[in-house]
Amino acid sequence: MRTILLALLISINLTIDSANAHQATHAETPKVIASDDAQVMYLGNEALLVTNQGVKVLFDPFFHNHYGQYQLVPDDIRRKIFAGEAPFDGITAIFISHAHGDHFSEQDTLDYLGKFDDVKLYAPQQAVKRILGLNPASEMLKRISSVALDFGDKPVRLTSKGLVVEAVRIPHAGWPGRAEIENLIFRVSLAHPDKPAKPQTVMHMGDADPDPTHYQPFTSHWQKRKTDTAFPPYWFYFSKEGNDILNSILNVDKTIGVHVPVKAPQPLINSGKDYFNTPGEIRSLSNPNP
Ligand SMILES: [Zn+2]
Repeated sequence: MRTILLALLISINLTIDSANAHQATHAETPKVIASDDAQVMYLGNEALLVTNQGVKVLFDPFFHNHYGQYQLVPDDIRRKIFAGEAPFDGITAIFISHAHGDHFSEQDTLDYLGKFDDVKLYAPQQAVKRILGLNPASEMLKRISSVALDFGDKPVRLTSKGLVVEAVRIPHAGWPGRAEIENLIFRVSLAHPDKPAKPQTVMHMGDADPDPTHYQPFTSHWQKRKTDTAFPPYWFYFSKEGNDILNSILNVDKTIGVHVPVKAPQPLINSGKDYFNTPGEIRSLSNPNP
């Protein structure tokens, strides 16, 4: 009996240790973001805090699976998010790219929305269904935008104070496998409601598949609005098709790769491409020539 218990304790410890390894390796103390500056802070895997003129949004902030290689959001950042501590105070909206365990936790999302009662949620229907399964308070439903898109559907456009939100469903990487996963590419423009002349447009791509044929049918959508900064999963940098999508189809000024394993692949380091893999790292997004 004692042996079994000991074995159990050891295995629990091992699990905790390996989780901590992924949380602690690259943690930095987040710096406070100046309210007027367009900036992005990397939080882990594809989790980002984007701010412009005091308008703040979070992408894929809540998840618990690292699948043995991806960067979790470190505990100190997670604690600040849930405490609403700077720079995570005054969040306008949360975006969920898709309902996979390295991007989304329905319980955390519910807890966060319960705590901050003016935050909006934009998420694929698949993720929203999982939140609804936890019986959220009816008050919360008004703040949840469930994006229900099939392959090939026209992009949706939603606006709220300080934000223009557009979403397209693009297959998850590994297509035609995982076709059931509702992966969204969000294009979001952030602007202070009183200073709409200085928007900042970012694109979060979730785990999009790098095949140009998924993107070509939406050429007019990409052309309609320039994206200042896109955050592609890093595998886009590894193929000609992926780079073509970023450089020629999506109408994007610059890119910063995300979903990079804790141990960055050598070909990525060698590529000279920009990417995130240190939580707490901040980049300015401001256009040097506005
Ligand atoms: Zn995924």
